[in-house]
Amino acid sequence: MAIHRFKALEEVLDRVAVNIDLPSDNVADYYGKNVFGRDSMREYLSEEAYNSVMSAVDTGSKIERKMADQVAAAMKSWAKTKGVSHYTHWFQPLTGTTAEKHDAFFTPLEGGRAIEKFGGDQLVQQEPDASSFPNGGIRNTFEARGYTAWDPTSPAFVIGKTLCIPTIFVSYTGEALDFKTPLLKALHALDKAATEVCQYFDKNITKVTATLGWEQEYFLVDTALFNARPDLMMTGRTLFGHAPAKGQQLEDHYFGSIPDRATSFMRELEVECWLLGVPIKTRHNEVAPNQFECAPVFEECNLAVDHNQLLMDVMEKVARRHKFRVLLHEKPFAGVNGSGKHNNWSLGTNTGKNLLSPGKTPKTNLQFLTFFINTIKAVHDNADLMRASIASANNDHRLGANEAPPAIMSIFIGSQLTQIFEELEKKVKSGKMTPDEKTALKLGIGKIPDILLDNTDRNRTSPFAFTGNKFEFRAVGSSANCAGAMTVLNSIMTDQLVLFKKEVDGLINKGVEKDEAVFQVLVGYIKSSRNILFEGNGYGEEWVKEAANRGLNNIKTTPQALDAYVSEKTLKLFERHQVMSHREQEARHAIYLETYTKKIQIESRIIGDLSLNHIIPTAIRYQNLLIDNVRKMKDIFNEAEFKTNASTQLEMIKEISERISIIKLSVEDMTESRKKANTIEDHKKQAIAYCDKVKPYFDTIRYNADKLELIIDDELWPLPKYREMLFTK
Ligand code: ADP
Ligand code: MG
Repeated sequence: MAIHRFKALEEVLDRVAVNIDLPSDNVADYYGKNVFGRDSMREYLSEEAYNSVMSAVDTGSKIERKMADQVAAAMKSWAKTKGVSHYTHWFQPLTGTTAEKHDAFFTPLEGGRAIEKFGGDQLVQQEPDASSFPNGGIRNTFEARGYTAWDPTSPAFVIGKTLCIPTIFVSYTGEALDFKTPLLKALHALDKAATEVCQYFDKNITKVTATLGWEQEYFLVDTALFNARPDLMMTGRTLFGHAPAKGQQLEDHYFGSIPDRATSFMRELEVECWLLGVPIKTRHNEVAPNQFECAPVFEECNLAVDHNQLLMDVMEKVARRHKFRVLLHEKPFAGVNGSGKHNNWSLGTNTGKNLLSPGKTPKTNLQFLTFFINTIKAVHDNADLMRASIASANNDHRLGANEAPPAIMSIFIGSQLTQIFEELEKKVKSGKMTPDEKTALKLGIGKIPDILLDNTDRNRTSPFAFTGNKFEFRAVGSSANCAGAMTVLNSIMTDQLVLFKKEVDGLINKGVEKDEAVFQVLVGYIKSSRNILFEGNGYGEEWVKEAANRGLNNIKTTPQALDAYVSEKTLKLFERHQVMSHREQEARHAIYLETYTKKIQIESRIIGDLSLNHIIPTAIRYQNLLIDNVRKMKDIFNEAEFKTNASTQLEMIKEISERISIIKLSVEDMTESRKKANTIEDHKKQAIAYCDKVKPYFDTIRYNADKLELIIDDELWPLPKYREMLFTK
């Protein structure tokens, strides 16, 4: 009997929202209290040390060892006021989660005594064993050492009784083994390239910072129900489960009132975030039942990435306190919406301007057009790489599945900007534009943000959309580290801006006036990038056809999508801007393929296990009840009566047998395919085998199991059902 399922449900129904005590009614009183930020630094550091850290943050300058000692001492004193006993380097290995190795501050002395010690050495560098993290063959077995190195641009923070120091993670030979290292390099390259382009328009711009504002979608499921679902526990998604009679079709969840228990979870999550200086600002229900979203105010890209990683950690912890489990998987439930993580991206200057915000004057608008069109060109020319940056086994369920931005890269810019592009092209075709026309055009652009921002019916189906003053990369997966997508976007933008500068300078050197040169190059870009612009419904079948006609790629699965990471073009691009070496990229490619394979492998095993020891035995038990019933009917009815009265049961018995045998045979075949795939040594071929030869069994097995769920006595069914997981509050 599926007693544990009902027990789990009873537990859920008994739960009430936990009361949250706020540290203060005024968030400003405790915001950033657990961060060694500018204020604490000013308080604890000498002016010299403070300036040294600030200059490292602002200009990337090196911090002298002597200063590092001072910073370490100050950090420790500050942390001590919070009862901290341990410190850890906090880093983001390619597993996708964060890693930490806690060390106590004290060092034992002779004679059983100990002193507290935390100096520059400990702050700047640690040596975790790299052998237990994915390295794609970079680490030789005889050289297992890797090291973490302090990233002073992201402030240290305290969680519990541990001081966490954001760091990069590299192999002993200096190759990146994490997400942060290439991102920092890409951001640095972008700053340089974008600042040089800004110099055409505004000599005061000496620094350009990429900004990121992510929107995190997630599901909440009660712990008791979660624990009764081995598939959720082990893979983060349900591998079985029939769609409930009511799903999201009534659209009554989106922006609806948030259930009390979820609200209390969110409140506590927000408080924890605010203490950590993560500027969480909005929260709301999402489209699917029990699906929610939170979003911060945007920040400098590297910091925003750290904050998102931190948020995902904190969410897990807080959720448990509320007897919830948070599901960050891209597709925890079939048939209802999956989760994404929109990456809102823009470029800010040291003069406080947003380069993707149309201005009010012709001059600022030429600058806007420059960055706007260069972004389009960059994405157009590197669409496959953008696709690769969001590829994962999890996200394959969303991309192109008629609910999330499709696997086809396209850009939405809104009807007003499209119109401007069209006019521009026409004018240019018919001859030169007069200076007056150009001024009028540039003034017209100044009106765009208001129109766009007023336009509530924004296209939600585009993977990459301009939304008034930023681009929104919508196809990023909910569990992904934003750094993957951000490293690619910032790198391709860098490459494009360098190219742009070269072309404009070329024209200027030929005697073309600067604005005219900028204009000419941009018009050329509009023409060559046109085919990636798409304003229609990205979920529609027609788009798939049209995109094919336009020659846009539609790469459906991860093993194929990842190719773009190691194309000649990409290898050179990353190398040119010193973001990653060939070896680093090839290692990454191998790691991503391996991760893909492992995910499908685990899912396949769980599907096999659940089929054989949960679903088939339950089906047999119920079938026996039916058989028993039929036998007894035979006792009481004559032959004619029996025929009419027992026919339904007999059909059900037959159906159960058929489904059981399909499931059993498919599991056997799947296991065979898996065994074969496991013998393949080449990472890519193996991933493809898992994708094409193992994964297809999932659907057949699930289809038949879900049909069984529909006919088998609810009392017997072992797994919590969709309606229970999605609708119990
Ligand atoms: P939605 O897309 O849900 O309508 P908004 O467009 O208001 O929501 O904002 C979503 C996210 O975009 C927020 O995290 C916000 O901070 C971020 N954002 C706004 N401006 C910028 C910018 N210039 N750079 C990066 N992110 C930004
Ligand atoms: Mg958005």
